[in-house]
Amino acid sequence: MRSEEEHHDIVIVGGGICGLATALALHRIQEAWHHKSTVQVKSSRVEDFRCLKRTDLIQVLFDNLPAGSVRLGCQIVAVEGDSSTSFPILYVHDGSIIKAKVLIGCDGSNSIISKSLGLGALNSLPNCVIRGLTNYPNGHDLERCFLRNLDNGYMAFGRIPIDDKLVHWFVDWPYPDRDTDASKDPKFIMELAMQQIKDYPAEMIEMVESSNPSSLNLTRIRYRSPWHLVFGNFRRGTMTVAGDAMHMMGPFLGQGGCVALEDAVVLARNLAEAMPMGLEGGRVGDGELKKRIEAAFENYVKERKPRVLRLAMQSMLVGMLISSPSKIKRLLSLALLVVFFGGASLSYTRYDCGPL
Ligand SMILES: Cc1cc2nc3c(=O)[nH]c(=O)nc-3n(C[C@H](O)[C@H](O)[C@H](O)COP(=O)(O)OP(=O)(O)OC[C@H]3O[C@@H](n4cnc5c(N)ncnc54)[C@H](O)[C@@H]3O)c2cc1C
Repeated sequence: MRSEEEHHDIVIVGGGICGLATALALHRIQEAWHHKSTVQVKSSRVEDFRCLKRTDLIQVLFDNLPAGSVRLGCQIVAVEGDSSTSFPILYVHDGSIIKAKVLIGCDGSNSIISKSLGLGALNSLPNCVIRGLTNYPNGHDLERCFLRNLDNGYMAFGRIPIDDKLVHWFVDWPYPDRDTDASKDPKFIMELAMQQIKDYPAEMIEMVESSNPSSLNLTRIRYRSPWHLVFGNFRRGTMTVAGDAMHMMGPFLGQGGCVALEDAVVLARNLAEAMPMGLEGGRVGDGELKKRIEAAFENYVKERKPRVLRLAMQSMLVGMLISSPSKIKRLLSLALLVVFFGGASLSYTRYDCGPL
């Protein structure tokens, strides 16, 4: 066990899409601070439907960060406020301690930082999603396709080409009554997927059968209830959360990762606006620094809440519409979607979170 103590200005917990994007946004802003220039990176509007591998996105974000800014294998086990400065203290699994002026929790669905902020537990749907990738070395001519069996309410199957050789597919089905270790076994996942699609067209069965076993993944669908988003506390002092740690939602709109990228831009922009000279390099006292960071996080949370609340509601209703075994619930969710969200409108993809 180590008993070392480290000091950092900003610590981000979690190296997924949100953590890496937030780190990159903050580095871009820091560069602007040093060069006294305006950051020109803008969030782009999504005008069309695109599928990409999550690992590719993570790799691109990682590759653009300065060397040494990501520490791998560092599991945070607890967080508390320093009794003298009230800045956050992080406890690492190896016994070491990290003291930070700013703490951003991008640690996903089982977030330690969310728990420390007192956010309630996530809800689980009785569904799971099996996902996989199939490579066609000689190319394919498959188009995007979604199928749903409306008789049982649950079953959904979809495929989306990533490029002319690689296709992403998914099967949505009730969560298997098996222990979680079995649900990580590619053989078990493949058997389950094949069982669910046995009556589907041969071309789809063939695609699932020839998928790459290491790409197979079974995930229980979980989400943060919209009520938590309304009443939850997303910051305390100089600590806040972003990405799934803040607003985990079911995959029904395919927006979780996109919203995590928006969080990164908005969070970094608010920090930059509150502290145009960076963390002020000791020029302002800790009390003033704390006040400015708190104001930045307050604005960040205020800006993000309406956006993520609307998406969480829409995602929950779409989830209910496509997966509830109750016809009455499906009808009710359809009515609410039409009244409040324009039915099948994709207007949520045209949201502009503003420039960095
Ligand atoms: C089936 C499915 C389909 C989806 N489809 C889409 C889609 O089409 N489009 C889309 O935009 N989104 C989609 N999403 C959502 C998207 O994957 C997530 O919203 C996104 O990955 C969230 O990123 P994150 O960085 O917030 O969290 P995560 O990706 O969960 O990353 C959290 C990171 O924190 C680390 N971590 C956790 N705890 C600790 C700790 N204590 N100490 C240190 N590190 C820690 C983890 O190891 C991980 O690296 C889908 C999700 C699912 C389940």
